[in-house]
Amino acid sequence: MDNYEEYLNLKKQLNIYRREYYTEDAPSVQDFEYDRLYQKLLAIESAHQDWVSSDSPSQNVGGAINTAFPKFSHTIPMLSMDDVFSLEESEAAVQRIQKNIQQDEVEFNLELKIDGLAISLIYENGHLVKGSTRGDGMVGEDITPNILQIADIPKEIPLKDHLEVRGECYLGKESFARLNEARLEEGKSTFANPRNAAAGSLRQLNSKVTKERNLQSFIYYVIEPENFDLKTQSQALIKLKEWGFATNQQNRVIKNFGEVRDYLDEYQEKRFNLPYNIDGIVFKVNDLALQNSLGNTVKVPRWEFAYKFPPLEARTKIRTIEWTV
Ligand code: NAD
Repeated sequence: MDNYEEYLNLKKQLNIYRREYYTEDAPSVQDFEYDRLYQKLLAIESAHQDWVSSDSPSQNVGGAINTAFPKFSHTIPMLSMDDVFSLEESEAAVQRIQKNIQQDEVEFNLELKIDGLAISLIYENGHLVKGSTRGDGMVGEDITPNILQIADIPKEIPLKDHLEVRGECYLGKESFARLNEARLEEGKSTFANPRNAAAGSLRQLNSKVTKERNLQSFIYYVIEPENFDLKTQSQALIKLKEWGFATNQQNRVIKNFGEVRDYLDEYQEKRFNLPYNIDGIVFKVNDLALQNSLGNTVKVPRWEFAYKFPPLEARTKIRTIEWTV
């Protein structure tokens, strides 16, 4: 297309979808449709860099905050993540990173991409003192009273130093089904998916309701890991578990692309049997010093990206074709 007017309309439409998804927890389109339009926007912007302005979805993380929660400024921004949609694109992204650091072999820690919402937890003197959402990446919501209701988030840890960790808050498949059933019986509207149900449960003012919803967490980032003598992301996950956090145990350190293929194939199938939803696989450069040297863009870290699974409808079609050929 590449007509400026159409570009502006696309940007406007995406910003409406973002408000519905991030601010109102009520998306009107499926993620794959949003992703398709967003990739289109990125392609146009790469051909017309002078069109890009600060209100573009490519320049912003998350959405505006309009809840009554106090605001919380993140000392280190909470960023988004680049997405790829095929094995070929994953391989190209790995090669770009290798080229960037001029190394032929880079170790990656592969992790499941949990379909929830990002949270930050701050500990002082062994006590949980703050829990917040990502918000627009710079400023989130202080949701500490609700975070305190999540059973698997430790309120005390065996460490006196200041510690910030980040991870995902999610609603398991069973809890999601039960919640929607109960809402139907009460004549209330149902949640579109577990991610929105988790966001709605965490970002509401009655902590008692948050408690009833059975939210869970997987914690995967240690902020300022050098303070704890951590050298790799896989080590950080082990340390987080030792400190008492819920960590996802399905991660795998890989050294070559053949291993990536095996992992993606494995979880493309296994994901249906997991008790929580995942929407892809996250690739993280395992070496934390290398992560540091790669740094971030205004929106995403350059040392990680996500492979997003194809939407289930498309997957079914592909399978039907395979079977009939
Ligand atoms: P993202 O969800 O694609 O990726 C970043 C997030 O992944 C992190 O913030 C973190 O919360 C999460 N994550 C889960 N597991 C992780 C792990 N193991 N390690 C690190 N992070 C992990 O990025 P985003 O900016 O939060 O959201 C963009 C996505 O949201 C889009 O790809 C789209 O699918 C969806 N979206 C949908 C709509 C809609 O209208 N349907 C609108 C806007 C965005």
